Amino acid sequence: MSSLLDAKDIKAYYRFSSQFVRAVDGVTLNIDYGDILGIAGESGSGKSTLGNVLMMNIRPPLQFMEGRIILEGKYDLTMMTYQDLKSQIWGRVIALVPQNALNVLIPTRKVQDFIIDVLKVHQKLRKKDAVQLARQRFQDVGLPVEVLIKYPHQLSGGMRQRVVIAIATLLSPKILIADEPTSALDVSTQKQVLKMLLQLHVDNIVKSTILITHDIAILRQVAIKIGIMYAGKIIETAPADQLLQTPLHPYTRGLIQCVVTPEPEISKRGLTHIPGEPPDLIRPPSGCRFHPRCMHAELICIQEEPPLTFMTNHHMVACHLATRWQACSL
Ligand code: SF4
Repeated sequence: MSSLLDAKDIKAYYRFSSQFVRAVDGVTLNIDYGDILGIAGESGSGKSTLGNVLMMNIRPPLQFMEGRIILEGKYDLTMMTYQDLKSQIWGRVIALVPQNALNVLIPTRKVQDFIIDVLKVHQKLRKKDAVQLARQRFQDVGLPVEVLIKYPHQLSGGMRQRVVIAIATLLSPKILIADEPTSALDVSTQKQVLKMLLQLHVDNIVKSTILITHDIAILRQVAIKIGIMYAGKIIETAPADQLLQTPLHPYTRGLIQCVVTPEPEISKRGLTHIPGEPPDLIRPPSGCRFHPRCMHAELICIQEEPPLTFMTNHHMVACHLATRWQACSL
């Protein structure tokens, strides 16, 4: 059986006059039915751009450069027109909960009116059908239907986020891409949002979820697979337990040490555990893009780009010294 979505060597760059920012630079990944794939990395690693590129939501200055995105082994999204993507794919097959979704709702429109507007434009649903669909979905995901007649300012941040997720899944998309759905929420509200994302799977409303976050601790609670992104590339991917217990890439180890550590005084220090800054993606470093920040860098790291290589059946790493780290973890 083919994967639900196969992305092969995709590249998408932001163009500013004659310069290109290589936000997504040769990413290959696949999403299976039932997957909850977490994509983690620092801000500026390209993960939000990747979320948009996977559904071919490409808007200037972003340009799709090359690669293929194959849905269910049949349709190449990169070959579809904007009109076809809009009428056949977005919302129906792949839906996106964008970053800052809390602000998606229009302050002067009740939730229900917002839903009617969205469904009228994108799916040509009649008002009555749109309301019925929304009532049903809200009940499915445990949201009170009274919320439909409220204005956004009458709802808490957590409720607004859950409403936006419910709206994104009205047409039962096969893939839900949720970009930082828990940022700006307190811990207990984060839990409610994560629970809702899991419930969408249990109820078979969505088949797979891609959860994008800077906070790898969030992924520990829900992800089945994790991909770590750095400077426009996936540098490590593995089943969630494996990646969190035996990370092999020095960057992944840094991310986990600074975020997942149980000691509050250490976790508060955040990403300062990884020295340096993410690189300039107009002129990324030669060889391994992490080498200017890596305390283990050797000459080969500066000269040659490490390919993403299988270390075990499902664990892939892009590091020249990965076998050394693997030996240490045994
Ligand atoms: Fe560090 Fe070299 Fe591995 Fe890159 S390839 S992460 S520089 S050891």
